[in-house]
Amino acid sequence: MTAPDSPDSPDASAGPAGAPAGPVDGTAAGVDLADLQASIERTYGERDRARGVSATVAWLAEEIGELAQAVRKGTHEQQVHEFGDVVAWVATLANQQGVDLSAAVRRYARGCPRCGTSPCTCP
Ligand SMILES: [Zn+2]
Repeated sequence: MTAPDSPDSPDASAGPAGAPAGPVDGTAAGVDLADLQASIERTYGERDRARGVSATVAWLAEEIGELAQAVRKGTHEQQVHEFGDVVAWVATLANQQGVDLSAAVRRYARGCPRCGTSPCTCP
């Protein structure tokens, strides 16, 4: 429920039960991964970098915990919200590490990177 660069401590964040459901952009056009990463860089890059990689990793871990909780007992809207937060934190961490997310996921774009088929036929 917390966007990258949020000043509050991870412990201060409420669980999905108390989280306001963010707007659900079901009608919005899809977001390009590279555009999203660039936008996250513009929006949060400087401050997240100043806070450091370990703080960003801690935030990401916190958000994954919130996503796990939302998947277990949250509403669909809360799950959508938490998925967005996790992807945003992954993007800001990738920015700090100089990783291009589009390039990083490219090996999954044409099926399983191991067996090369879709659906995967790995044992
Ligand atoms: Zn496979």
